[in-house]
Amino acid sequence: MLLDHPHSPLRYAEIAAREPAAGEVLVKVRACGVCRTDLHVADGDLVELRSPVVLGHEIVGTVEATGPEVRTPCVGARIGVPWLGQTCGHCGYCRSGRENLCDAARFTGYHIDGGYAEYTTADARYCFPLPERYSDAEAAPLLCAGLIGYRSLVKAGDARVLGIYGFGAAAHIVAQVAKWQGRTVFGFTRPGDSSAQAFARGLGCDWAGNSTDAPPEPLDAAILFAPVGALVPAALRATRKGGVVVCAGIHMSEIPAFPYDILWGERSVVSVANLTRRDGEDFLRIAPQVPVRTEVEAFPLEQANDALARLREGKISGAAVLVP
Ligand SMILES: [Zn+2]
Ligand SMILES: [Zn+2]
Repeated sequence: MLLDHPHSPLRYAEIAAREPAAGEVLVKVRACGVCRTDLHVADGDLVELRSPVVLGHEIVGTVEATGPEVRTPCVGARIGVPWLGQTCGHCGYCRSGRENLCDAARFTGYHIDGGYAEYTTADARYCFPLPERYSDAEAAPLLCAGLIGYRSLVKAGDARVLGIYGFGAAAHIVAQVAKWQGRTVFGFTRPGDSSAQAFARGLGCDWAGNSTDAPPEPLDAAILFAPVGALVPAALRATRKGGVVVCAGIHMSEIPAFPYDILWGERSVVSVANLTRRDGEDFLRIAPQVPVRTEVEAFPLEQANDALARLREGKISGAAVLVP
């Protein structure tokens, strides 16, 4: 399913699978998650778009062939292909454990053709083995919603009371990990979205309510998955002194001006950008221990436009996954 250019619907196209180059694997796609970032790419919110491009960076597949110089994974192995597709390996960021910030990084489904397809190729060094307990569709959301959600949770530090704003794919995974870690978790949704609030409570949240509501007690940290800038001051108001507000999305509407006193008291606002391979290894080790259960709604690949439309309307409970 090709994105010819931003603001156009994806188009079903027949394209020959590419031979894997040196260091690459050819992957037969078994499932690919639909992420909010795909919407931002399709809507032209991100500036570096190469087009046409195949979206999709939560790819679960099996290795069909390997290019020269690939030692692992082997043909037949089940792997996950995440958003981080490649980095330079030698800049200051790459050498200091922050490859997520590499200026030369290339991302799957953005700079590199992704998983809204039957086949894709990927740099073998950036693929992950996947825990066996998950089916292909269940494993797909772990690869971005899970990984980047987990990186956001790490940024929240040892917060005992955690607020999560925007109860989609990432939140439904992070809430389970946070409860397993013994935290108190409050879920915030669009005002009046009672089904999302019921979903949050069903996943173990101690309270769920509107993003405009005050929580039952002040937050030690908030994670914002909803791409709504107005939630930054809302979350700061709900957060106690010394707390942190973590903005987890790749794009957000403009943050409105706010009075300094809601930031004062050593509150901080930070963003999370991309993922490192270390995040992937850490999270994929933890997920089966919790165990994280992913709730997925599967769509046939040809219905990718419907899946994106439903995500845009906030009508997906858990995560949408395309199945070729
Ligand atoms: Zn680099
Ligand atoms: Zn994503």
